Amino acid sequence: MSFKSDIEIARDAKKRPIQEIGEKLGIASQHLLPYGHDKAKVSQEFINEVQARPDGKLILVTAINPTPAGEGKTTTTVGLGDGLNAIGKKAAICIREASLGPCFGMKGGAAGGGYAQVVPMEEMNLHFTGDFHAITSAHNLLSAMIDNHIYWGNELQIDERRVAWRRVMDMNDRALRDIVVSLGGVTNGFPRQTGFDITVASEVMAILCLARDLDNLQKRLGNIIVAYTRERKAIYCRDIGADGAMTVLLKDAMQPNLVQTLENNPAFVHGGPFANIAHGCNSVIATTTALKLADYVVTEAGFGADLGAEKFFDIKCRKAGLAPDCVVLVATIRAMKMNGGVAKADLGEENVDAIKAGCPNLGRHIQNLKGFGVPVVVAINHFVTDTEAEVQAVKDYVAEMGSEAILCTHWADGSAGTRDLATRVAEIADSGQAQFAPLYPDEMGLFEKIETIATRIYHADEVLADKKIRDQLRAWEAEGFGNLPICMAKTQYSFSTDPNLRGAPTGHSVPIREVRLSAGAGFVVVICGEIMTMPGLPRHPAALDIGLNDLGQIEGLF
Ligand code: ADP
Ligand code: MG
Repeated sequence: MSFKSDIEIARDAKKRPIQEIGEKLGIASQHLLPYGHDKAKVSQEFINEVQARPDGKLILVTAINPTPAGEGKTTTTVGLGDGLNAIGKKAAICIREASLGPCFGMKGGAAGGGYAQVVPMEEMNLHFTGDFHAITSAHNLLSAMIDNHIYWGNELQIDERRVAWRRVMDMNDRALRDIVVSLGGVTNGFPRQTGFDITVASEVMAILCLARDLDNLQKRLGNIIVAYTRERKAIYCRDIGADGAMTVLLKDAMQPNLVQTLENNPAFVHGGPFANIAHGCNSVIATTTALKLADYVVTEAGFGADLGAEKFFDIKCRKAGLAPDCVVLVATIRAMKMNGGVAKADLGEENVDAIKAGCPNLGRHIQNLKGFGVPVVVAINHFVTDTEAEVQAVKDYVAEMGSEAILCTHWADGSAGTRDLATRVAEIADSGQAQFAPLYPDEMGLFEKIETIATRIYHADEVLADKKIRDQLRAWEAEGFGNLPICMAKTQYSFSTDPNLRGAPTGHSVPIREVRLSAGAGFVVVICGEIMTMPGLPRHPAALDIGLNDLGQIEGLF
């Protein structure tokens, strides 16, 4: 059998003008700011107008711990959105924008796959509506203003060795990870070490995704800690005076982007923070706007449920006052087999025993998610190699866990493949049985919050942290940051901090290497293990195969 590639399917899409997609949500054309014929931003004015309306139901799509086999969260988010529309519901999806850098490396696209995609996928994966360029510019404006402040006399007494704010670009470029700036003599400033991160790792990205409106955006930007004095006093972005100009650069980027699925249903694609040092969800403004316009909103969180869903609940929902009505947990037969110890090369062969051995990973995610008070449905994202016996083994396991698993074929069939899932999800969301509560209260101490996540979500025995780290957390509590939520940065491949420990490990320890305060975004980042904030390109980057064909179409992009 041969299959069309994602880009070939996307190219054949029968797209409708974006005004028609807006109409489905009741957005009049004067409130759509079009970027070409198939993309538009929704005006801030319109967003303000709809604030008093009631909210639709919120559905989170998350997954088991990712494996190299691929799970398909975005594909399932799109498939479920189309499925809900196909059974007559008014539904919209909310997903993240793609980072341009990884497109030329090795990552798959961010627009879903097969017959469950958002279009125009090429543009979504490239420049799109320029949001990431705006974020890059806003971030680097602050960088430039910090060095400029030092150059003109350094009134704030910034310790050049303690400038925390780096520079960003949306490219995988390992050569820029650690650099020296201001070389070349007196007129070029004071030489110091710094570096570049990728744009999606910028705190400005996290802030844009958590801000409720432009005022809130500016306030949060002002709260970014950019440097310290010799006495370790924090210097804020507002001390540098960059917050106003940064807000101007971000004004348009704050308005959510509307596009469509292959089946012409509305999709908001907005924001894209890292899922490790940030919270990995699309923007609050897109999700809250979608909830005012649709009866059902399907959104996605990055990585597996131990990281993605936990942060969605404890950071995004907590800060935005959202209460999800249903969670869809994506699992694949291939990933279950990998969790059960099968090597990637052998995934094509039926292996029910390996499935049974891998299921406890799924089981623990179900249990954890239920702990947030939100009902869970498992979506088995069907691959052509899956056998009936394998699918049945997963269904049986999930039933034993007191939940249900529904087989979905949206990758091959579009909405026809998610009708059952959509029907069930709508029933659950409408039933009002969800009783969402975050994992820990704001008032809990920072270290206790970390322990709560480690023991209740990762099922670890203990958290290991040096006195230095504990002292730092206490110091932040004393400075008034104790009420912030925790943003865990650990491997996505395991419940533990060891990426090779698959399944549902217990008895492990969670060692903390470093803690960082993202005072603008409003969370404390807890780093366990290596975290890469500027990726590199692989030996054979995808860029080598990307080009334009004779018709001027893009080839090689997925
Ligand atoms: P995630 O959001 O979990 O990272 P995606 O939905 O982006 O995953 O899917 C990753 C890749 O896997 C995409 O290229 C997509 O086309 C592919 N994929 C997803 N589901 C299937 C499936 N059922 N069969 C084959 N390929 C799939
Ligand atoms: Mg995804």
